Amino acid sequence: MQQLPERVDIIRAAHEGCALVGTMPLGQLKRLKAQVRRLSGHLTAQLTIDQDPQGIRYMHGELSASVVLTCQRCMEAQTVDLSPAVSVAFIEKGAPTDHLPAQYEPAIMAHGMVFLPDLLEDELLLALPMVPMHPLGCTPVHQESPDADLKPNPFAALVSLRNNK
Ligand SMILES: [Zn+2]
Repeated sequence: MQQLPERVDIIRAAHEGCALVGTMPLGQLKRLKAQVRRLSGHLTAQLTIDQDPQGIRYMHGELSASVVLTCQRCMEAQTVDLSPAVSVAFIEKGAPTDHLPAQYEPAIMAHGMVFLPDLLEDELLLALPMVPMHPLGCTPVHQESPDADLKPNPFAALVSLRNNK
């Protein structure tokens, strides 16, 4: 699969109707990286940019990415597959959004352009589970004190590296 572009001319893409199918390295998504335990590999996107009969420029499709989170029951690593559906309508900064049908989330473009990594990163951030937890029963960690919660275990990364070998 080819690499996705970073800057997309939405006006032109929507005018022509265009498919954006490809991958993007996850490591460059710094805001997402700050929210997860480990981030590597690529996201894949299957997106269409087009214009609907009302003249709304939109992007529709699906993303898929795997991230490693910390299970909030056993505090071990948990790989979570994210596959958010994307449905956004593009508007210029400051333009009203009240005419947009409810199925679209508004996305701001600057002079008709968007920076695709930021946009896709927003979608992945929204798709993160609030409280990640292994689906099958894992052993809860019993905290000695409420403070223990706040300090990351310095050995946790080592343990998870070993377990993944
Ligand atoms: Zn767990």
